[in-house]
This record gives sequence, structure tokens and C-alpha cells, in this order.
Amino acid sequence: MNNILLIGPQGAGKGTQAKLLAKQYHIPHISTGDLFREHIKRQTVLGLQAKTLIDKGKLVPDRITMEMVKERLEDKDCQQGFLLDGVPRTLPQAEMLDEIVEITHVIEIKINDDLAVKRLSARRQCKQCGRIYGLDLPEKKKGVCDDDNALLYQRDDDKPEAIKKRLELYHDETEPLLEYYRPRNIVFQVDGSLPAEKTFAQLKKIID
Ligand SMILES: [Zn+2]
Repeated sequence: MNNILLIGPQGAGKGTQAKLLAKQYHIPHISTGDLFREHIKRQTVLGLQAKTLIDKGKLVPDRITMEMVKERLEDKDCQQGFLLDGVPRTLPQAEMLDEIVEITHVIEIKINDDLAVKRLSARRQCKQCGRIYGLDLPEKKKGVCDDDNALLYQRDDDKPEAIKKRLELYHDETEPLLEYYRPRNIVFQVDGSLPAEKTFAQLKKIID
């Protein structure tokens, strides 16, 4: 059984690794972002509660987030394992998760802040189709989308100041989480500065 938490800052390649893991081990990739969008789209009670708060600029409380997670983990496709991404984000969420399910691996994709800033501030997005380019996947012709020739731009949240703020928040929130799980000997680390396939090789070694 692989009940995996994947943890890592933006710029560490977490999305890419999550996709590879889900495919390799035939487990669903569950991200809180997707859960929120789905509940809001389906207009569930939890979704409507969350949307009201988000529209007011408020944070969605742990209870609502964790109820969505609990419901999702009861689905049949999670019985042989799952990959959680973006949750738990706080200690209370981790404690609530313990009441729902037993986590087998907590894997941190480690990358130093300088490289994360470098990767994220190199990101450019197409104004037309939303495709994202970066250091690893640059556009063919500088500043222009490969698919539709539209101009690329830098999103506000990919500017260095915004990135630094997000990284600080990540450190503040995540390090206590790793400490929470560490006594169980289920915390592992992989190197997110490597090319994606090498990082993935480290992940496989941990899980196999
Ligand atoms: Zn485009």
C-alpha cells in the first residue's frame, strides 16, 4: 500500500513528479486545488461553503478542506493507495488526516531557494493559450508561443518578490509538518534540482 504525501515548494517540479508517480504506481493524484475546483463546479455543500469564503477573500478552514479529502479518499480508486498533493498544509490538517488514513511515505522534493527563484522567474506564459514555458522547456522563438505565435508574459506571482514570499510561507508551514511525521520514520527526501527523470528515479527507489 502506497499512501504517499508529496511535499515541495513551487519550482521543485512537484507537478511533474506527481504525474509520473501516479502513472507508475496506478494511484490517483489528489490535489487540493483540483478538489476545490471540482466541488465548486458540482456545487456541493462543501463547495458552496468554500466558494463563499474564497469570494470574500477568506481562507477555507481546515475542516472543509479535510472533509473534501476524506470523501475523496473513500472512493474506490484510493483503496490501493493514493498520492496527496497540497494537503496536509498545516499541523491541524495532519492530525485530522491521521484520523482518516495511515500515511506510508512523506516525500519532500528538496530544492534550494535560489534555484526555485531562478526556475520560477524564468517562467513565461502564453497570453493566448496559457501554455507555460521555462528553463527546462523553453519556447523555440524567444518571447513567442510555439503553438500560436502569441506573446508570452511573466505572471505577477512569478516575479522575484512574490516568489520569495511564497517560499518563506512554504518553509514556515512545511518544516513543522516534516517534524510531525519524522518520529514514524516515513519521511524521505529527493533532489528536485536534478533533471525530472533523475528525481523520479530517486522516488522509485524509495517506494519500491
Ligand atoms: Zn500559445
